[in-house]
Amino acid sequence: MASSICIFCKATLQGRSDKKFCSINCKNQYNYALRQTTKDEVKEIDAYLHRNREILSVIMGNYKKLLTQKVVLERAGFRFEYMTGIYHNKENKRFHYVYDYAWAEFTNQELMLVKKSDK
Ligand SMILES: [Zn+2]
Repeated sequence: MASSICIFCKATLQGRSDKKFCSINCKNQYNYALRQTTKDEVKEIDAYLHRNREILSVIMGNYKKLLTQKVVLERAGFRFEYMTGIYHNKENKRFHYVYDYAWAEFTNQELMLVKKSDK
């Protein structure tokens, strides 16, 4: 087995062979660096999703269910390809979740928007 080194600073490790870090400081710095990488990589998609939710929230106001023109969302900059989930209702309509909101194609030009009821 190769002599183990600290994943973060590459210092040779003493003692237990299953150790990955030379110190708690290296462990913390390594985990911090990992989190930063993920943060940067997901930032753009998170922004699209958050923006989509804002658009739905503004259009729906206090409605729990609303029929609207697709073009309204398009003009607001809605990104239809970004969603947080999909479900089919009893009529087999496909709803696209954006967090606590969802939209489904009602006709070619119309969308049904729904907001999940508060818990
Ligand atoms: Zn180290």
